[in-house]
Amino acid sequence: MNYKKARKSLYCIKNASVFNFDNENVHLEIWVENGVWVEKPTENPAEFETIDASNLDLIPVGVDPQVHLRVPGQPEKELPETGLQAAIRGGIGALLNMPNTNPIIDSAEALLRGQKEIQSVQEEAPVEVLWSGTITNQMAGKTSAPFDELVLAGVSALTDDGLGVESDELMAAAFAASQKLHVPVLQHAEVAGHGCALASGPVQLKLGLPPYPRSAEVDMVERDLRVLRGFPKAKYHVLHVSCKETVELVASAKKEGLNVTCEVSPHHLALCSEDIEEDKTHFKMNPPLRNRADSLYFQDALQAGKIDFVATDHAPHEETSKNKPFKAAAFGTTGLETSIRVLTDLLQKDKLKSKQDVVRVFSYAPAKFLGISDRYGYLKPGKPFNACLLDFKAPTKKVLQEDLWSKSKNNCFLGQKLPDPVKKVFLGSWYCEL
Ligand SMILES: [Zn+2]
Repeated sequence: MNYKKARKSLYCIKNASVFNFDNENVHLEIWVENGVWVEKPTENPAEFETIDASNLDLIPVGVDPQVHLRVPGQPEKELPETGLQAAIRGGIGALLNMPNTNPIIDSAEALLRGQKEIQSVQEEAPVEVLWSGTITNQMAGKTSAPFDELVLAGVSALTDDGLGVESDELMAAAFAASQKLHVPVLQHAEVAGHGCALASGPVQLKLGLPPYPRSAEVDMVERDLRVLRGFPKAKYHVLHVSCKETVELVASAKKEGLNVTCEVSPHHLALCSEDIEEDKTHFKMNPPLRNRADSLYFQDALQAGKIDFVATDHAPHEETSKNKPFKAAAFGTTGLETSIRVLTDLLQKDKLKSKQDVVRVFSYAPAKFLGISDRYGYLKPGKPFNACLLDFKAPTKKVLQEDLWSKSKNNCFLGQKLPDPVKKVFLGSWYCEL
């Protein structure tokens, strides 16, 4: 890892092309005082450090609503500092941590442990971490977690991510809590029991593994929407869609007036089961890579707004859990560092039509979803300055292990050629030069 970072209470960005989801403006001078973009400097302009942004693009920093930071208590997979540094490497300034940790975040006490671990590294990497708590105690799918306690202690979402919630009653209880406590319920849609590692494709066939059924995802989303109709003010979100049928279900539920959203991960956007290499288990993730028709559909659906935003499902694993045959290896790929590279690639290939579209799916929509639009997702005077300076025209280069700042290197884009656009990340008074 090789980057410069500094804390400057006064800086001025010159010649910046600023892209929000709905506009593009050139600013000759952006004055930042104590982390806030001010119309005019109140201090002596000579005191400001100058940063030249000519020929680059300035966007609101990325927001990632699905990250396994492995905090608290899984330092073998990710350390608080490597996780947050990985976010910065990928132009991401705020994220939602998933609760399948050690201990599992199903109580205020477990949440506090996680918060303490993060606090200790915030000076070094001030990425904002939001927390989710579980839907069921110990994610065992048997009894409801203490929703009031969790929300009061500061969780922003409820999810058993890693496992689908099978019981109709427990989903109903979660939706009731969502209505009352104003937090979204995030479903990892997977009917358990199939025991499969890979969806149908060349490697699955060659290894003679049973194909991971589409119904595992689609059936659970269908059931969830049925239960959700009893809770018109609840917010329901489908994590990491892998089948186009899921997106169609979500789209028609939106038309019906239900509060439903969904996300796609960079790997499901860019890759499919035909891209899997036989001996590389970093292509094993849950849900699995499916057909080319699905990934092409997701690209169109993201452009059209049928899919609300991109979230990485960053899932670091130590080498010993991945260095096994496909059937036995752990599920998961890292993603914080490669998400913006994939989105920039889609922009360069005209799959995303404009820089504003990238901003919408990478920053604006996820910030709105997490309720942090006051400080993320949009750049304008008067707001905290959380921004990423990048080059959307950056040439492609191979994703290499040494590029990755996450502690674990299980990234499914390793060896692929993708643009590497991020130059600087601004998080209030703090900035990092890559
Ligand atoms: Zn999941």
